[in-house]
Amino acid sequence: MFLQPVFRFAPSPNGYLHLGHAYSALLNQKRAHESGGRFLLRIEDIDLDRARPEYEQAIYEDLEWLGVSWETPVRRQSEHIADYSDALHKLEEMKLLFSCDCTRAALAKFAADGKNWPRDPDDSPLYSGLCHTKMNSLALAIEQKSGFALRLRMSHALKRIEERLCWREDSIGLIVAEPARWGDVTLSRKHTPASYHIAVVVDDALQGVTDVVRGCDLYEATSLHRLLQTLLGLPEPNYHHHELIYDSLGAKLSKSQKSISLRALRKEGMSAQALKKHLGF
Ligand code: GLU
Repeated sequence: MFLQPVFRFAPSPNGYLHLGHAYSALLNQKRAHESGGRFLLRIEDIDLDRARPEYEQAIYEDLEWLGVSWETPVRRQSEHIADYSDALHKLEEMKLLFSCDCTRAALAKFAADGKNWPRDPDDSPLYSGLCHTKMNSLALAIEQKSGFALRLRMSHALKRIEERLCWREDSIGLIVAEPARWGDVTLSRKHTPASYHIAVVVDDALQGVTDVVRGCDLYEATSLHRLLQTLLGLPEPNYHHHELIYDSLGAKLSKSQKSISLRALRKEGMSAQALKKHLGF
């Protein structure tokens, strides 16, 4: 029986799309087309502090200009807050969460005081464990009625995993996941009811995504995603982490670095066809 593959492009509406996004969207569309699969667009608007409607509108315009078309309706994270909260409740039932009121400054200070303090793959200091023994209210933190963050108790989570955690990386094969490198990772905080990590695994499962094609800046995060999928009993997609597109200065393209947006290129007179050719499509 043919299991129809499901691909998705999942931009966050907190800036304009740039070349790297164009590459990712085009590659997802191409793979969906070649495999007879479906192609979804998911707006990752869970970061309530940074998501803006004008950026979401710009995503649609830029993708249309590029000739990318997606299945309707568009999926949106903000419509699934209750699903993320259910997943957090599940983890709480397994006694894998604790709430944490450490400020960023306190965490940074702790790390600065310790010589060679370990860091996670995003280069943030690993959590010190300061709140492990505090009696903060978990229930309140899950319902977002407190300013507390919710963290995964990594050592307990790992004890629940019976088999070696791996993922299947396209054209490479099985990769051993190393979630411990993320430490007691934050799964929700005050203005973000669910972290990217929890939202992405819940969404991919809800939307039946079989193939995750995204930039290799998220390669390390896949270890954590495999852990969360296993704890929550969610299916395991195939992964393909593609190269990042570099601008002429060689810097990694990202919105925070104010790299050239698709709309700026368009304004300068670049055609969608020329851009696609430049990206190898
Ligand atoms: N929303 C993420 C981004 O814009 C992509 C997440 C993913 O593809 O898993 O970088």
